[in-house]
Amino acid sequence: MTTIQDASLKTATLKDAAEQAGRDLEDASALDILRWAADTFGKKFAVTSSMEDAVVAHLASRVFPGVDVVFLDTGYHFEETIGTRDAVEAVMDVNVITLTPRQTVAEQDAEHGPKLHDRNPDLCCALRKVKPLEEGLTAYDAWATGLRRDESPTRANTPVVGWDEKRQKVKISPIARWTQDDVDAYVAEHGVLTNPLLMDGYTSVGCAPCTRRVAEGEDARAGRWAGRGKTECGLHG
Ligand code: SF4
Repeated sequence: MTTIQDASLKTATLKDAAEQAGRDLEDASALDILRWAADTFGKKFAVTSSMEDAVVAHLASRVFPGVDVVFLDTGYHFEETIGTRDAVEAVMDVNVITLTPRQTVAEQDAEHGPKLHDRNPDLCCALRKVKPLEEGLTAYDAWATGLRRDESPTRANTPVVGWDEKRQKVKISPIARWTQDDVDAYVAEHGVLTNPLLMDGYTSVGCAPCTRRVAEGEDARAGRWAGRGKTECGLHG
């Protein structure tokens, strides 16, 4: 199995190792993928969570107690999302790190005008999500996400381990091969914390101004930026 002994190895080596691990671990379990990440990167590895649920954080804490869980507080979250973050911090064996944008919502409104999310959601996401995550991940060589191939066509080719070209880091998606049924079964078996909005008609939870409930038969992410011609925030593009 691929290992990286020296965290200061050059980017090209990290990239090669990521791509090799993606092939080696394609059929591995989520726990084994996370075990590889913990063994390989140690404290240079973090999980990111939108606090839609705590499945990946829970999995990671089983192989890496005290693992860093990075949460982006955009200033636009539902109170249920912040409550889920607080509950994860209180009851799970993880180290929650909350990242915030450089500007508060009020400061952003003063510079760009109110409701930038309605007028220019790409810029709003860049300022409130993409930039803070880029800065927050500088301390790490590898980060894990909860991306799944079945969520949308744009995620159908998500590797379990790949190379994040934009941030020059190893990107790990341990549940890429899972289905929604797999997630539901894991949540039920382990009593994992989930965002209460998932029981209230939301299948994907983002910022409040850009998230609506979905109708039966709609794509799981259909409620994100609905009617704005946007499907991803830029974190995974
Ligand atoms: Fe802004 Fe909406 Fe993006 Fe949140 S999801 S950062 S409110 S555009």
